[in-house]
Amino acid sequence: MQTQFSPKQLEDPVIREADDILRHCVHCGFCTATCPTYVLLGDELDSPRGRIYLIKDMLENDTTPSPDVVKHVDRCLSCLSCTTTCPSGVDYMHLVDLARQRIETRVKRPLGDKLFRALLAFVIPNPALFRLALVGAWFAKPFQALLPGPLRKMLALAPPSIHGPSPVDSPQTFRAEGATHKRVALMTGCAQQVLAPTINEATIRILTRYGCEVIVANGAGCCGALEHHMGKAEGSHAAAKRNISAWEQAGDLDAIVINASGCGTTLKDYGHMLKDDPAWSHRAARISSLSKDITEVLSDLDLPINLETQNLKIAYHSACSMQHGQKIIRQPKDLLTQVGFTIVDPAEGHLCCGSAGTYNLTQPALAEQLGRRKTAHLTNTGADVIAAGNIGCQMQIGMYGQLPVVHTVELLDWATGGPKPEQLA
Ligand code: SF4
Ligand code: SF4
Repeated sequence: MQTQFSPKQLEDPVIREADDILRHCVHCGFCTATCPTYVLLGDELDSPRGRIYLIKDMLENDTTPSPDVVKHVDRCLSCLSCTTTCPSGVDYMHLVDLARQRIETRVKRPLGDKLFRALLAFVIPNPALFRLALVGAWFAKPFQALLPGPLRKMLALAPPSIHGPSPVDSPQTFRAEGATHKRVALMTGCAQQVLAPTINEATIRILTRYGCEVIVANGAGCCGALEHHMGKAEGSHAAAKRNISAWEQAGDLDAIVINASGCGTTLKDYGHMLKDDPAWSHRAARISSLSKDITEVLSDLDLPINLETQNLKIAYHSACSMQHGQKIIRQPKDLLTQVGFTIVDPAEGHLCCGSAGTYNLTQPALAEQLGRRKTAHLTNTGADVIAAGNIGCQMQIGMYGQLPVVHTVELLDWATGGPKPEQLA
């Protein structure tokens, strides 16, 4: 794609990066067929190629982004299905990140929209506040019909029961059982530890069982993904720096383990996020290189083979951040098969479930269509259980179907000696 940035514009590193990405696109349109919003809406401007044109115009003209640009960029799930499909290697992820930052700094959103986004960015990354909000939501549920649209949707998403804080999420060290083969830090995250504390508990059990010392570092918290996907660079960079410092202080580590693939994609991108900050770029790149999904770490450990497990058929849902963001395709399914489960793949496995961070709150209509479609495909496999490696997908799929949705690591922990996941009790 030809671009027409002026020499003056190209002095800006942001524009130089966008220019480089845009020039890779050859307009072929292969990406449109695998883009969830294009599949639903059939509008070129809701396809990757259409959005690339809109972003190019917005940056070249250097004007306030028009309402049309905002609408179509907001509708993008950042699912990155297009990057898997694109034969030219267009780095759409970083292009849409730049566009979202430009929109965030230049567009005056309607007050209600602005407040709602600020509320999400303030509450969800903070486990104590988020837990409090869920308690409030529980009490407000009987009155949900009286509330405005977005808040009504939030109440619908609130889980029926709310867990107290898990003791494993405070800073501490868990010793390996037997000889120590690896020393790892666990990213305990934010929303997940509130919605499903059993995931971190299962992760620590299985890692220590197979020879890992696990550190929960003092000062580490939300990865910053939520604010990053809203274009709020200041907040996401602050979260990244806080985490980097915390893990540096944890001493020598073989890996930083993540059990929410949305967070994993963000951690692996810290090096890119902070590349223009001389004080942080090397440190961020080092943390990114240490970041591993739990299934990548477990694949290197000696998990037992072919256990006599519960004869369950599992439909594996590969989160977009897992398959498109991190290109982790085989490991979760291989591990589940290795310990004795039978795995089935749903149709349209490449399409997003509509969770996509806060997308199911900010774009509820599209998210619901995708959620229902995904859940129907998973159910149609005839499986007993759905497995996923990302809490957002688990909540979204759980809303639209009857099958239990369990985190991959909880199934692996159960098969290798841990307790039965509570969803299967
Ligand atoms: S990230 Fe997903 S929703 Fe956005 S343009 Fe690419 S395929 Fe479409
Ligand atoms: S597939 Fe890649 S090169 Fe083709 S239009 Fe889409 S982004 Fe551009």
